Amino acid sequence: MTYFDHNATAPLLPQAEAAWLAASRDHFANPSSPHQAGARARAELDRCRERVAALLGAAPEEIVFTSGATEGANAVMRHFAAASGGAACLLSPVEHPCVRAAAEVFWKGRVRSFEADCAGRVKAEDVAEHLREARPALVAVMAANNETGVLQPWEEVAEACHAAGVAYLCDAVQWVGRLPLRVPAGCTFVVGSAHKFGGPKGVGFLRVPREAEGFVAMVGGEQEGGRRSGTENLPGVAAMAAALDYTVTLAKNGAETAARGKWRNNFIERLDPMGVKVATGGAPTLWNTVSLIMPHAPNHRWVNQLSRRGFMVSTGSACATGREGPSHVLSAMGLPPEEARRTLRVSSGWATGEDDWHALANAIAEVAADLRNQGRSPVIEIP
Ligand code: PLP
Repeated sequence: MTYFDHNATAPLLPQAEAAWLAASRDHFANPSSPHQAGARARAELDRCRERVAALLGAAPEEIVFTSGATEGANAVMRHFAAASGGAACLLSPVEHPCVRAAAEVFWKGRVRSFEADCAGRVKAEDVAEHLREARPALVAVMAANNETGVLQPWEEVAEACHAAGVAYLCDAVQWVGRLPLRVPAGCTFVVGSAHKFGGPKGVGFLRVPREAEGFVAMVGGEQEGGRRSGTENLPGVAAMAAALDYTVTLAKNGAETAARGKWRNNFIERLDPMGVKVATGGAPTLWNTVSLIMPHAPNHRWVNQLSRRGFMVSTGSACATGREGPSHVLSAMGLPPEEARRTLRVSSGWATGEDDWHALANAIAEVAADLRNQGRSPVIEIP
């Protein structure tokens, strides 16, 4: 199997697996227990927090371990909706459903958005204008889009929010472990999920800025400095720290990311004569992702045909699987529905080699020939 669906989930890294097993075996005690075994588990948790904080450029006391980005985004949305005194929440039109849906539920009728360009990229100036005119209580602009890999000017947005004294939520799920990240100054909340960078599922982090007084994600036993109650998932946290360490070290190495970006770009060039287009044009993207508009057939047939040949790609966001119609991201880009239905997401990982990209291009050429021929005579495909 050749796996090109890292934006849905990345395979567990061996370092993460080893850390998970070691923590499960050596630190199984509850970190809140008063005995020595509990104290050792607590020390290990603290060590992981320091490591994660250092890798993200944050302070250890700002890192709250969660079950993933969805939990973190929901908590931030809920907190500010309650504290906003009727002000609005400003979202980019391409946010992940965990941000969009949480905004709609908690801010009922007080959600504002603005336009993206034809690649789904927003402008920091548009956010700055809304900050001046509409004075929202919270802004959410993701770092990199999960469906297209398009990079947002999130550091500039963070600066604009900081200057305006407005809280900012950055969904950095697809950025973390792929590009270097330094948490910016100001009231910036950052969410991440370990399974996107080689850690296990069901564990993530939320950076809670020091100035966020009274912020509580979950009430109960007062774990995580009172910010997020619930017995800590120490094996998951240890595995996440190990995966983060490995991927952030690679992400900081420009030669590593440049080489992978080049393999991806060479792949795109090979597809051009087959009538395949890049949905995001020349917009800057993560080195690992490309959103392609395929010829001849809808995207689910491409996924099916490539899957039978051993190549795992995706129609878009994993959360959207089974949903009818084009995604909100492709709609925000203004992609005609007919093209949106032919959009395929290809997302690689650190272990994806140049030969994997070549093999995928060869498989696409084969499928294109099959689909072209099938287009000439009616064929009923049995899934
Ligand atoms: N944000 C982005 C950009 C994502 O891609 C995802 C997962 O697909 C999430 C948030 C939610 O992550 P999780 O399901 O791990 O909570």
